[in-house]
Amino acid sequence: MSYVDEVLEKVKKRDGDQPEFIQAVTEVLDSLRPVIEQDEEKYRKLAILERITEPDRQIMFRVPWVDDNGNVQVNRGFRVQFNNAIGPYKGGLRLHPSVNLGIIKFLGFEQIFKNSLTTLPIGGGKGGSDFDPKGKSDNEIMKFCQSFMTELSKYIGADQDVPAGDIGTGAREIGFMFGQYKRIKGVYEGVLTGKGLTYGGSLARTEATGYGLLYLTEEMVKCHGDKMEGKTIAVSGSGNVAIYATEKAQQLGAKVVTLSDSTGWIYDPEGIDVALLKEVKEVKRARLSEYAKARSSAEYHDKKNADDHGVWNIKVDIALPCATQNELNLDDAKALVANGVQYVAEGANMPTTIEATEYFQQNKVNFVGGKAANAGGVATSALEMSQNSERLSWTFEEVDSKLKNIMVGIYHNIDDAAKEYGMEGNYVAGANIAGFKKVVEAMIAQGVC
Ligand code: NDP
Repeated sequence: MSYVDEVLEKVKKRDGDQPEFIQAVTEVLDSLRPVIEQDEEKYRKLAILERITEPDRQIMFRVPWVDDNGNVQVNRGFRVQFNNAIGPYKGGLRLHPSVNLGIIKFLGFEQIFKNSLTTLPIGGGKGGSDFDPKGKSDNEIMKFCQSFMTELSKYIGADQDVPAGDIGTGAREIGFMFGQYKRIKGVYEGVLTGKGLTYGGSLARTEATGYGLLYLTEEMVKCHGDKMEGKTIAVSGSGNVAIYATEKAQQLGAKVVTLSDSTGWIYDPEGIDVALLKEVKEVKRARLSEYAKARSSAEYHDKKNADDHGVWNIKVDIALPCATQNELNLDDAKALVANGVQYVAEGANMPTTIEATEYFQQNKVNFVGGKAANAGGVATSALEMSQNSERLSWTFEEVDSKLKNIMVGIYHNIDDAAKEYGMEGNYVAGANIAGFKKVVEAMIAQGVC
C-alpha cells in the first residue's frame, strides 16, 4: 500500500466521526501523491503525513454566559492549533451552531497550506464555537465574547496564536474579544486581527478576501488570453466575502447577477447594486429578501428544497462560491457546465464537494480552490500583524497593492507547481503542493516535534 493510502486509512480510522476533516485530508493527500511518490521512504520514515494531519493541540472548553433574561447559557468553545512550522498559528474564529471539532479541524488543516501560500510567516489554526449570534442582542454578544476570551486568552498571544474573524465573527465580536484579552493579560498587543481601525486594525482587511479572490481570478482570466470586462458572474453568500467580491468584480467591469443566504437567493440580471447590498447587509443587518424588495430588477427565490440549484442554475461565465462548505455539489456543477461556465474560484472554504471539483476538472473548467483563492483575507491579517509589530498604519493603497501582488504571486506559484508535476491547469493540486513543500521543508529542518 502506498504511504498516502496508509495515512488516509489511519486518519479515517481515528477520526471517522469527522466527515469534513476526512474530506479535506483526502483531497490534500490525494493531490500530494506525485510529490510523496518521489521520495516515499523519506516521508514515511519521518512520519511527515502523520504529523501534518494531527494537530499540535486541540483545545475545547465551556463558555458560560448570562442572557438578557438572566438565564445561564452554555456553549462549547474550540481552538485547534494545527501546525506552527512557519510562524505563529493563524486562523479565524467561527461562530455558528454547526461548529464542532471536525469542522474546526478541517478548517485548521486547510489553513496550514493556505497560510504557506501567502508567502508570509504564519502557521495554521482555527477556532470558534457552536454559539449562534443570530437574533442575539449586543449585550448578549458581548457577554458571550467575554466569556469565550476569558478561557481562550490562556492559549493565544501575538507571537503564539493570532485568531481572526470568520463566519459569525465580524468587527463587533473581535472588538469585544480584544477588550477582554487586554483586561485579562494587561498587554496591548496584536493578538487578534480584523480589529477596528482605531485600535490597530488594518485598512483593506474588510475588503481583503473578496478583493483578493478577484485579483487572483483576474490574473487567471488574463493568463488564458481573456479579460474580466463583460463577464457575467454568479456569487453565492451575502456576507463579508460575497459583498467585497461583488464590489471588486464590478470595478473590474464584470457583472455579478446572483447572491444567496441560508434561506434563499436572488437573481438580478441588471447586476447587483453594491450600495444597496451594503445598506441591507452591513447597516440594517437584514436578510437578502430585503434587497429584492428594494430593487425592481431583482427576483427573490426561497430555498425550498435540496433540488433547487439556486444561484448555480443561472447562465454565467464565472462562478464564485462565497458562502459555506459543500454548498456546490455535483448536480450544481453539471448545471454550471451545461450553461458554459469557464472559471470557478472559491471565496469560501471548501464550498465545492470533491465530486463537483472533479467534474469541473474533467470538463476543462479552470477551477481554483479556496486555499489559494481566498488567501487574501489571511494575507492581509498577516499584514495587520506586521503593522501592529512596527506600531504603524499603512494607507489603504499600500495594503491593497501588497494584497494584489500576493494574489497574483499565488496564482503563478500554484500554476508553476502544477506544471512542475505534469498536471498543468490543475490548480487544486498546484496549491496543495506549493503550500505543502514550504511547510514540510521547515518541519524537517526543525527536527521531530
Ligand atoms: P459571513 O458570516 O459574513 O457570511 C456568510 C454568508 O454565507 C452569509 O450570507 C450566510 O447566510 C451564508 N450562508 C451560510 N450558510 C449557508 C448555507 N448553508 N447556504 C447558503 N448560504 C449560507 O462569512 P464570511 O463571508 O466571512 O465567510 C464566508 C466563507 O468564506 C466561509 O467559508 C469562511 O470560512 C470563508 N472565508 C472567510 C474569510 C474572511 O476574511 N471573512 C477569509 C477566508 C475564508 P446567512 O446570513 O443566512 O447565514
